[in-house]
Amino acid sequence: MRAAVLREVGAPLVLQEMTDPEVGSWDVLVETRACGICGTDVHIQDGWGYMPSLPFVMGHEPSGVVAAVGERVTRFAAGDRVLPNIFFSCGSCFFCRTNGETQCIDLGGILGVAEHWGGYGRLFCVPERQLFHLPQAISFAEGAVIADAVVTAVHAVERGGVQAGETVLVMGAGGCGSAVLQVCMMAGARAVGVDVTRAKQMRALELGATEALVAGEVDVPGAARDLTHGLGADCVIDTVGSERTLAESVASLRRGGRLVILGYSQDRYALDPRQIAINELEVLGTRSGGRQNTADAIRVVADPCWKPIVTDILPIEQVNEALKRMRTGQALGRIVLVHND
Ligand SMILES: [Zn+2]
Ligand SMILES: [Zn+2]
Repeated sequence: MRAAVLREVGAPLVLQEMTDPEVGSWDVLVETRACGICGTDVHIQDGWGYMPSLPFVMGHEPSGVVAAVGERVTRFAAGDRVLPNIFFSCGSCFFCRTNGETQCIDLGGILGVAEHWGGYGRLFCVPERQLFHLPQAISFAEGAVIADAVVTAVHAVERGGVQAGETVLVMGAGGCGSAVLQVCMMAGARAVGVDVTRAKQMRALELGATEALVAGEVDVPGAARDLTHGLGADCVIDTVGSERTLAESVASLRRGGRLVILGYSQDRYALDPRQIAINELEVLGTRSGGRQNTADAIRVVADPCWKPIVTDILPIEQVNEALKRMRTGQALGRIVLVHND
């Protein structure tokens, strides 16, 4: 198969022929049609965070069409439009049995991130239990971003316990932030987008955010208080995870408020234990999402209210340009690579 391959840390990807994935009896082989790019891909290219053995085929946000199925597969057939849940979870540990597959203690890898080659290749392979049908009404590009951006947004909003009528600050209005804003609004919350550029502010408003703030131009914690009669935000979902966004997030919360950390960087941020204790703040982590979240994310994107979060579509041949756009924050939403015949 043809694939864009990471051969060396820090180097551009190379388009080359790779061996096709092996299809086991419970597996489904998928021909990739589209694959989103995530900040994690940039981290992997930099040799930080996940470090798969090289050469490696990244891409953990794919959609495609079933090419072949193992002999024990019953729910899928060649030609079906599909997208995966990317966690090769064991299915039987405590976390897998309690809807927390991303915390599986016997994880067999993550598609396009660790151990299993992903959607930067023409073909990828996952067990049937990790695969979902992609409704006809959802395009391959918008369907691809369900596998990571939208699943992550759905799980983060669930982790934050977001309720109708609450005010939620979403730090970062990029690809994943665009999904978080919309999932919050679908939950009946008032979503406030925060990003560093005017263009991202306008983008957040286009997506339906109630308000959008430009960090650096306004005092974000002050603005959060102004919007909530002096109380502060009920919840902040930080999709960036830098020292600056974390400091602003904590300072923007009301007493008893919840901070959900979704994105991360190599920054460190010193929590003030007195501030957390006195104000009864909650700090929660969130990681991608399990299969229930994937099923929910498909319904979210199929909803007529959903506004597409994909803003840039490039052919796989331009993978290095796409990664550069991701790295420099040039894209307003999600960047998706497409495989053409
Ligand atoms: Zn990702
Ligand atoms: Zn497990």
